[in-house]
Amino acid sequence: MCGIIGYTGPKDALSIALEGLRRLEYRGYDSAGIAATGPTGIDVWKKSGKLVNLEAELEASDRGAATPTAAIGHTRWATHGVPSDDNAHPHTSQDGRISLVHNGIIENFSQLRSELTNTGVEFNSQTDTEVAAHLLGLEYAKDGDLTAAMRRLCQRLEGAFTFLAVAADQPEVIVGARRNSPLVAGVADGEYFLASDVAAFISHTSEAVELGQDQIVTISPEGIALHDLDGAAVDGKPYSVDWDINAAEKDGYDTFMMKEIHQQPTAVADTLRGRIDQHGHIALDEVRLSEQEFRDINKVFIIACGTSYHAGLVTKYALEHWTRIPCEVELASEFRYRDPVLDRSTLVVAISQSGETMDTLMAVRHARTQNARILSISNTVGSSIPRESDAVVYTRAGIEVAVASTKAFLTQAAACYVVALHIAQRRGVMYSDEVAAVVESLKAMPDKIESVVGNGESIRNLAQHIAAHQRVLFIGRHVGYPVALEGALKLKELAYIHAEGFAAGELKHGPISLIESGTPVVALVPSPAGRSVLHDKMISNMQEVKARGAQLIAIAEEGDDVTASHADHTVYVPQAPTLLAPILTAIPLQYLAVEYAGALGHDIDQPRNLAKSVTVE
Ligand code: GLU
Repeated sequence: MCGIIGYTGPKDALSIALEGLRRLEYRGYDSAGIAATGPTGIDVWKKSGKLVNLEAELEASDRGAATPTAAIGHTRWATHGVPSDDNAHPHTSQDGRISLVHNGIIENFSQLRSELTNTGVEFNSQTDTEVAAHLLGLEYAKDGDLTAAMRRLCQRLEGAFTFLAVAADQPEVIVGARRNSPLVAGVADGEYFLASDVAAFISHTSEAVELGQDQIVTISPEGIALHDLDGAAVDGKPYSVDWDINAAEKDGYDTFMMKEIHQQPTAVADTLRGRIDQHGHIALDEVRLSEQEFRDINKVFIIACGTSYHAGLVTKYALEHWTRIPCEVELASEFRYRDPVLDRSTLVVAISQSGETMDTLMAVRHARTQNARILSISNTVGSSIPRESDAVVYTRAGIEVAVASTKAFLTQAAACYVVALHIAQRRGVMYSDEVAAVVESLKAMPDKIESVVGNGESIRNLAQHIAAHQRVLFIGRHVGYPVALEGALKLKELAYIHAEGFAAGELKHGPISLIESGTPVVALVPSPAGRSVLHDKMISNMQEVKARGAQLIAIAEEGDDVTASHADHTVYVPQAPTLLAPILTAIPLQYLAVEYAGALGHDIDQPRNLAKSVTVE
């Protein structure tokens, strides 16, 4: 989420910051802003909307009285507070001496905000970031040491952040810090850069320094210095970047989709961040339904389209199991035209990555007229569906550029798990140790996702091997069924072939007639440990298609020593509780679609006939 850039050196810092923001705009475009320092102090420009709005603002102003010596810039991807001029970064301390940009989420911001308000600090935005600007200003006022002030600020904060800050009376200095958010330094002769990724400065230098967790970095034309949070000097890891500018925007990946597949461990960790308290319980402060409203829910409808619909189908299994509330999952485009039975005891969960999906928005509006409660799951702060909902849980996946969703699916499922556990907890239908046990498993998922993501190579040869086929079937049982649907959708979207997902038990009722000699069939094999009866049944279904000539690709759990002997190829994923497995098993299918389409020479990021955010009905 969000792009940040800082520059100090002999060139026009304002132009360099602006150029860096252009390179980073794909990371967020809710608003943009720049603070530039020079002999006259700090000038700040910020504007909601895309970067062109900031550019127009700069054109209309005199761009500051003097040529700036340093500048920091930000393209925002809002998490706290709607996209607006006031909420745009940089934010400035009460005394006006400090300006700061931030990427991430400060989890203890509301407590800090109350503390600051009680001491008379006035806030100009709804962001979590502004507390950091004020605190940094107060720390800086103590000794005029910006590096030490940043260190003391970081010691007070919880959550994820990258900061860049400038002070009016040290116009050549920029101080940065990072924890759980990206920051890299660029080094040239007498000029230095700090940015979310190298794309921002690659046209100026290919020499970079990697910064570690909880490190403070100070740059000025004289050099770069790194410290840890105790103030001890530390060494950064220098490296040379051999990407061209095109590759740099994709972090070195060939496509945005591959980049986004690789972002999934972090994206899911960000979805969970701050939503689990120290007792291992769900803390979903943003869902402000009363105890009574939670107890009154007697029916849940999940409404969504495409990949989000599949995340909804996964959720149904978890939600009914954990909350014991009946749940239906419906395509948003069908929902409102069939006169669904809703009332004020119905909870409608609307899932939309963009928050603007027109079919889902219309379904939400229909549900509202029937007095249902609406909770939305979205990746886009301030978008229409969250605005028209009673409550919203943001997935915090960061911007998704590739048209075919990957990290949206995983983060939507993760957010829905959190919501389902929250409902179970609030209604008292799960013991707190039961909730804590699931939460422990959830917390372990990002590492497991990382290991599946790292295993993509195993799919490459396989995809190239089967890419001559014009039909691929996917079969699954239980939570594997929606994953089969999602795998088929990815392949349709990217490879333009007939791909279809089935409940494995349903094959014999008709679709098995599609199997010909060599037809690839991808089987999502349930864990032998979780619901072993399902595992046995799936092995039987695999035998049925194999007997009819299918070429079988199995996605199985590590330690499953039965499946491989029934399949032509087996891809293993780490063990996970049955209900959580979809956020692992979906990943090999994402790779399969990318590799399959790649072998056919198709455009991965912009498949034909599709668009990212479907804002028509
Ligand atoms: N949490 C901050 C905000 O909402 C920063 C978001 C970002 O990383 O762009 O403004």
